[in-house]
Amino acid sequence: MSFTLAIVGRPNVGKSTLFNRLVGKRLALVDDQPGVTRDLREGAAKLADLRFTVIDTAGLEEVTDDSLQGRMRRLTERAVDMADICLFMIDARVGVTPSDMVFAEILRKKSAHVILAGNKAEGKAADAGMIEAYSLGLGEPIRLSAEHGEGLNDLYSMLMPLADEYEDRAVQDAPETDVDLPEDDADLEAETVPMPTRAKPLQVAVVGRPNAGKSTLINQILGEDRLLTGPEAGITRDAISLMTEWAGPDGDPVPMRIFDTAGMRKKAKIQEKLEKLSVSDGLRAVKFAEVVVVLLDAEIPFEQQDLRIADLAEREGRAVVVAVNKWDIEENRQDKLRELKESFERLLPQLRGAPLITVSAKTGRGLDRLQAAIMRAYEVWNRRITTAQLNRWLSGMMEAHPPPAPQGKRIKLRYMTQAKTRPPGFVVMCSHPDKVPESYSRYLVNGLRVDFDMPGTPIRLWMRGQS
Ligand code: GDP
Ligand code: GDP
Repeated sequence: MSFTLAIVGRPNVGKSTLFNRLVGKRLALVDDQPGVTRDLREGAAKLADLRFTVIDTAGLEEVTDDSLQGRMRRLTERAVDMADICLFMIDARVGVTPSDMVFAEILRKKSAHVILAGNKAEGKAADAGMIEAYSLGLGEPIRLSAEHGEGLNDLYSMLMPLADEYEDRAVQDAPETDVDLPEDDADLEAETVPMPTRAKPLQVAVVGRPNAGKSTLINQILGEDRLLTGPEAGITRDAISLMTEWAGPDGDPVPMRIFDTAGMRKKAKIQEKLEKLSVSDGLRAVKFAEVVVVLLDAEIPFEQQDLRIADLAEREGRAVVVAVNKWDIEENRQDKLRELKESFERLLPQLRGAPLITVSAKTGRGLDRLQAAIMRAYEVWNRRITTAQLNRWLSGMMEAHPPPAPQGKRIKLRYMTQAKTRPPGFVVMCSHPDKVPESYSRYLVNGLRVDFDMPGTPIRLWMRGQS
């Protein structure tokens, strides 16, 4: 994904309709009633051969003297800050409204690249509005009909030259090397953990049973401005993902994208007709995420549902952090913690070493430790170990505990190399790979985890014969 496009404009002009068209799946919620779409929401967009990230933003409420308006405005400004290019949409059939002028003002100040679009321009009724649009001082407007898919060619030709500009800055996934290695150590040492960027933020999913405190936690992490939950009537959340920034280990901001599974379900409760859009659950969040936070309720930890999702995260190869919530109401903390750690080891041996952090989403206690654990889990998940280090380590492991000799033939482990990251995967070249018992592989995996300090990440290990 080369750049980020934010679609901004007042409610009901058709932002979500365009978002849906670009994303191709019904990720955004569309409704006739103004202001249904209130949070930042993001999707992977495709327009002909262009691939980019699109953010659908909150609109500016038409009401005045409402604290809500200020908050929405700040949210929009934030989106503009995060985007490389802004698509400012007006309703061409309505023409330019005072709210549109407020937006134009923000955009002229804040955004380097603004594309002005008059939407709902499929008929003559839009002609006057299209001409009025010039008065916004943002250049020539493109004529769009998000609903009918008209004008996308024009949008493409506006984006094309800008896209080229951002191409160089594209951040790719760490290439996953083939398993048939050995690799050159010099190359390996040159590689570092890819830092999250705005184009590719660190992706976190918070999963857990209903009432574990996911919404409370996400609210607490993101802060007031990010999520519009509050006493105002009709405030709901329909975000697939929300973006924020955390202070990284060296103080630099780390862009984060948090998948919110709880918000979707709550939205459905409020607006039944949107229910079909809200089936997104923990499973989908796990697929998108790099780090999965399994949020447990301290009162009822490690329920079947928690175990299933934690196991799924491991199988999908995600970094896992376990957070135990509602620690504020816990009385015997030390005993409880010991008990939790025991259950964890017993019930989730596949996630051995994953950090277990006690938090109170309600009071905010422990969230700094949780954030640190998430960023560390991400680092470990991306970890590279050189072939030289691995082979020194492997001979030590074999000395301490030689591989077995099934039917009198000793298995020889010849050498070892790291084949991939995200999560770390290793290949051991050996004689009789199919005869290496599970227990020996486990011995190696657990050893890797401890000796190279890789808690909370799944580790893959393959035995390969030499051909
Ligand atoms: P948003 O609030 O700005 O995100 O607007 P929506 O995408 O929810 O659209 C608001 C309404 O305008 C919906 O009823 C859409 O069906 C309608 N709409 C969106 N695009 C077009 C268009 O190109 N032409 C017409 N006639 N209606 C549109
Ligand atoms: P979700 O269904 O996982 O999103 O859970 P919610 O965030 O809606 O929280 C469920 C209930 O637990 C609410 O009544 C919250 O106020 C409460 N809750 C959430 N976090 C905490 C916490 O840290 N301590 C206490 N005492 N209650 C909490």
